Parts: sequence; structure tokens; C-alpha cells
Amino acid sequence: MAFYTSYGAAGEVTGSCHLLNIGNINILIDCGMFQGEESELNFEPFGFNPEDIDYLIVTHAHLDHIGRIPLLVKQGFNKKIISTRATFSIAQLMLRNSAGILESKPKQLYTMQDVDPALELFGNFLECEESLTLDNDIKITFKNAGHILGSVSVKVEFIDEEIAKSVVFSGDIGQSQRIITSPIEFWDKANYVFIESTYGLSVHQELEISINSFKKQILKTIKNGGTVVIPSFALERTQEVLFLLKQMSDEGQLKNIPVFLDSPLAINVTRAFSNYPHLFSDDVKQMIEKGINPFDFQELTNTYTKEESLNINSNNNPKIIIAGSGMCEGGRVNYHLIRYLKEEKNLVLFVGFQVNNTLGQKISRGKGKIEILNSHIHVKAKVGYVSGFSAHADQKELLEWIDTIDDIYCVYLIHGDLPQLQKLKQKVKKDLDEKAHIVKIGEQIHI
Ligand SMILES: [Zn+2]
Repeated sequence: MAFYTSYGAAGEVTGSCHLLNIGNINILIDCGMFQGEESELNFEPFGFNPEDIDYLIVTHAHLDHIGRIPLLVKQGFNKKIISTRATFSIAQLMLRNSAGILESKPKQLYTMQDVDPALELFGNFLECEESLTLDNDIKITFKNAGHILGSVSVKVEFIDEEIAKSVVFSGDIGQSQRIITSPIEFWDKANYVFIESTYGLSVHQELEISINSFKKQILKTIKNGGTVVIPSFALERTQEVLFLLKQMSDEGQLKNIPVFLDSPLAINVTRAFSNYPHLFSDDVKQMIEKGINPFDFQELTNTYTKEESLNINSNNNPKIIIAGSGMCEGGRVNYHLIRYLKEEKNLVLFVGFQVNNTLGQKISRGKGKIEILNSHIHVKAKVGYVSGFSAHADQKELLEWIDTIDDIYCVYLIHGDLPQLQKLKQKVKKDLDEKAHIVKIGEQIHI
């Protein structure tokens, strides 16, 4: 007998945690943190006994897929964690940074001391297109999910009561065109498909249009003597922004305009990326083969210490500042916003999705008064938004991803808000003529 149960990211987008029971073997896929309005759920019990888990497979290093691993280990999980090497490298940085933030909260989920025992369990590495046989002849295979560096989707194959069965978990799937990451790989066969539905309802702006808009808004601002503040996510989005700014630098468009990468986490993640040249797109690979660092250029300064960071604002000359957090919920970006939002000549350029009720979302709505770190700011700067850099596939791409798979018995929709799930379900049934089901938290599905 085989069963699937979701303990996170069913009917919601964060807290990914999915359990597959095959006979007496328990395989957990991801153990992510609930974020935003769902954060209180992190303090609820897992819904299963962590001691009973035989394998943890990690699809990628975003916190909503790895953030509760230290908690899982603290509560008794002690088996090997299966992931790509790149995911492990980035997970170390993300989990340590996360613990640092959690320690400053009144109610602590876990501390820095809980991170090392969790990291010690990584080490069962599997790369894309590789397979591994677990106990009871259960076979797992990874393919590139094209979402962030090192991200994978997973196939689990097993024999159940003399019937061969296969289950695919999409992880988070990337757009077909990405700025730096190598393209997504597709599956040809699977019986049960669990797929993320983040953008089940929407279609993204074309990447080329977004790139042009990004560069144009920056050029216009610096030509008018303004400063550009880019609130950016440390993982992947910052490296994409650096890559595009490098192109501008190579074309002589950033002459005498200093660029600051003002985030220790983003600086560390960028360094970690350079250890995995084979995982980049062909363009980026070719640069690396020629000895060129795709994320470095003449005008760029990494500001690691607090002092270096404060020095950025020692003059009012035009500059570009990339700082976290991506949704302006804490981090160094806040004091840059306090300084630069007040003047009309400056630009705050959002390059990622802004969740409801975050400071980033409030600023991105446009002019008005906002409060940052107890300062009341009248927003006069221009506010730009580039929407097409998303690391997630849109509706069309999700459908294409499903459509390449033969022998599907049912498509199970996870990792999405209800309107996205409902629309994708309707499209899967109507356009692809497949059975589709929206998974609920705790619902046991017989496989
Ligand atoms: Zn992700």
C-alpha cells in the first residue's frame, strides 16, 4: 500500500512538506517554513513523528522548502538528507541566516545551535538525471526544475502489490526562459503527478520585455542624477540582477555609477554560485569558460560589514544599491529606503513578487505616506516594478510541463492559493483531458 499526505503547501504557497508512505518506508519531500500570514503554523506539530521518517528529499534551497529542517532534526529525525550538492551549499547559508533572524524574535522556532546537526545530515548527493535506489527497491531520480540553481523535481518509482507505480513531485518549476539558470528538464512518464500551482491563473510578461524595462528604468534614473534602490532576494534574483548590470557595464552604460551589493547573505550566495558553473545557461557557461565572472564588474562593490554599508550613503551622487530583503521586511534596504524615497529623482525598482501587507507591497502601490523603522516617509521617488523575472512557471508553462508526461492517472495540485489552484484544475481537465485534484492539508491520498 502507498499513501501520500501533505503537511504543508496544500491550498497555500509556503511550508512545503509532503509525506509518501510506501509500505513501511516513509519518504518526506521538503520540510519548508510557513511564511507571511501563515508563519504561526510553524509552531504547530508536524502532523507525523519526525523519528519515523526514513528519507528526506530536498528539492531546492528556498526557505519555504527547507526552513523547518532544523526543527525536524530537533524533534528526532536523524536519517540522511538527499539533495543536489548546489542545494546543500546554498541551504547552509540560508538556514544560518534564517536562524539568525529567528533568534531575534520573541518566540523562537529554533536557534543557530540547531542548524549544525541538521546540516550534518546532508551528504547523500544526487545530481540531475541521476538515480538512487532506496530500501525496498524504491528508485528516485532527479531532473532539473529550472527554478533556482540546484533545484530539482523528483520521480519515485516502486512496486506495490506487483504493480509498478511512479510518482513525480514537481518541486518549484521555473519559467522556460531564465536569465542565468540552465533550462528545465521534462519527464516522459509518471502515474501520479504532484505539481506546484503558484501561477496557475496567470501568464508572465515576456522575459525580454522585462529585461528591457529593467535597464531602461535604471538608465533614465541615473541620467537624471538619481539613485536606484533594488530590494532583492539574496538567492538567484540578486545574481540575475548582477548579471544584467554586468551587461550594462560591458556596454559602458554604468560609467562612474557605483553599484553596491549591500547584503552579506547575497554576497555569500553569489560566491557559492561560482562553484557550480555546469548548472548555468549556455551563455553564462561560455563566459565562465573564458575566465569571466558573470556576477562581477568594474563598478561593483560588495559591502559586507555594517560600516561599509553605512558609508554607501556618505554622498548624494547617483548610485545603484542592491539590498535585502526583497519585500523590504527588515534588512539593510530599509535605511536606504528612508533616505532615497524622499526625493523625486530616485527610483525604487522591485524585481520580485510582493506579498500582501509587506512593506514592499505598500511602497509598490505608489505614492503616499509610509512608516519605516519608526520614520514617517512621504514617498516622492519613482517606484518601478519588473514582473517577468519570476522563478516560477506561469499557467501556460505548467500545462506544457504536465503535457509532456504520458500514463498519468491523476494530476494533484499543490503549492498555490485557491484561485490559482481552481483555475489550473479547470485547465488541466479541459485542455489536457487529465483527471485533476486539489490536495488539502492532511488529506490521505491512496497511490
Ligand atoms: Zn522555490
